[in-house]
Amino acid sequence: MKEECGVFGAYSFNKPINYDIYFGLQTLQHRGQESAGIAVIQNSYVNCIKDKGLVSEVFLKENLDKLEGNVGIGHVRYSTTGNSDACNAQPFVANFTNGYMALAHNGNLINALELRKELEEEGRILQTTSDSEIILHLIAKYYRGNLIESLKKTMEKIKGSYALVILMDDKLIGIRDKNGIRPLCIGKKDNAYYLSSESCALDVVGAEFVRDVEPGEIVIIDKNGLNAVKVDTDADKMPCVFEYIYFSRPDSVLEGISVYKARYEMGRRLAIENYVVADLVVPVPDSGIPASRGYSIQSGIPIGEGLIKNKYIGRTFIYPQQRNREIGVRIKLNALKEIVRNKKIVLVDDSIVRGTTMKRLVPLLKKSGAKEVHVRISSPPIKYPCYFGIDIPTKEELVSAKMEVQEICKYIGADSLSFLSIDSLKKSVGMNNICAACFDGNYPSFAAKFYVA
Ligand code: AMP
Repeated sequence: MKEECGVFGAYSFNKPINYDIYFGLQTLQHRGQESAGIAVIQNSYVNCIKDKGLVSEVFLKENLDKLEGNVGIGHVRYSTTGNSDACNAQPFVANFTNGYMALAHNGNLINALELRKELEEEGRILQTTSDSEIILHLIAKYYRGNLIESLKKTMEKIKGSYALVILMDDKLIGIRDKNGIRPLCIGKKDNAYYLSSESCALDVVGAEFVRDVEPGEIVIIDKNGLNAVKVDTDADKMPCVFEYIYFSRPDSVLEGISVYKARYEMGRRLAIENYVVADLVVPVPDSGIPASRGYSIQSGIPIGEGLIKNKYIGRTFIYPQQRNREIGVRIKLNALKEIVRNKKIVLVDDSIVRGTTMKRLVPLLKKSGAKEVHVRISSPPIKYPCYFGIDIPTKEELVSAKMEVQEICKYIGADSLSFLSIDSLKKSVGMNNICAACFDGNYPSFAAKFYVA
C-alpha cells in the first residue's frame, strides 16, 4: 500500500496541545483527506480518536476537548489502493508490558511484505494492512527499556521512506529516513516544541521554525528539552522533488527552499524552454498558479483566470477510483468564457499523471471559445511509479509511460504540449541531490535492488 500523509506532533511543558494539533492537521489537510486522528498522552496512557473523514469532520469540540494532554501526535491520511477502512486510520496505538506507544507515519516501506511475514512467523498478528503498523510492532519488539536502541534497530530493519512522529515514555519523538525522502521539521513556541511534515503548519500554530529533522536522525523531546541522535552517519540526503512540484503547500519551506519560489522558477524556466506565441496564460488552479506566474513574467504574456475552481472540492486525485476522478475534475473546474473566448491560451499545470485533468480541460476551453490551447507542464513527463509515498500509479496508468509527447498532445486535444526538462527542474529547486525517480527511474540506491526502471 502506498500512502500520502501528513504528520504533526506537539510537546508542551505546561499547556494542553489538542487544539494546536487540530490546527496543525487542518493545515496539512492537503496531504491526506481520507482519515484523520489525534493521540495524546494522559497519565501515562494514550488516548486516541481517529476516523475516516476530513479533520473538521472527525473532530468536533466535544471529542477534541476529551483529548486534553500536553503531549500528542496527529495524522492525516490518503491511501492510494482504495483501502480506506477506518482501521487503517492513524495514529496506531499499542499498549505493551513495558509501556505504551502511538505512532504516525508519512511514507512507504518497500520491504513491508517481507517484514510482515517475519512478524507473523513470530506469532505477531497485525490488525491492519498498513505498513506503518509494522513499524509499531518492530519498535515494541526491540524495546528492552532502551528507547534509542529500539528505534535504531527498527531503522536498520525498515527500508523505504518514513517521516515518523511517535509518543513513548512520556516523550515526543521524530524520525526521518536516511534519505530524508519525506519532509519533517521542528518548531518552537514559548514552552512548546512541534514536529510537522511542513513548515506552513508551524506558522499556523504560531511556532518559529527551528530546523528540518536531518535524514537518518532521531529527535527526542521530553521534560529536558530537545535532544537529537544521528543514527545514519552515512545518510545520503535525497528529498522527493514532487513535494516541490505538487505535494507540499506553496507557503512551506522545505530544506531551506521555498516551495512557492521553486514552482515560480519552474514556470519561468518552462517559458524559456518552451515559449509559444499566445494571448493569455491560464493556470490550472490551484496547483498551476505559481508556475503560471513564472511563465507569464518570463514570456511577457498576461495571466488570466480562465478556469474557476469550486473551492469546496478537494484534490481530485484523492478519489482512488478512476470514475470518481473524472467526475471530480468536472465538478472541480469550469471555464470562464468571457476570459478565454477568441484567445490563444497557454494552459499551465504542474504535472500530467494519467491525463484525466488535461483530457477534460483542453476540450472545455475550446468549447468555451478558446482559439488555441497550448499545454505547458512545469515538470518532466512522469514515466516511473513512485514507491516512496506519492500516488504515482503503475506504469500502465501513467500516460507518459505509454505515449510519446506528440501522442499525448493528440489524446488531450491540445494545439501543442511540452514539459520542463529534468535539468531545469533541478535548477529550479536549486538542489542536485534530489529524488526524481518518477521522471528518470533513478531510485535511491537502497531501493535499486527492489525496483528496476
Ligand atoms: P492527471 O489528471 O491524472 O493527469 O493528474 C494530474 C493532476 O493531478 C494535476 O492537476 C496535478 O496537480 C494533480 N496531481 C499530480 N500528482 C498528484 C498526486 N500524486 N496526488 C494528487 N494529485 C496529483
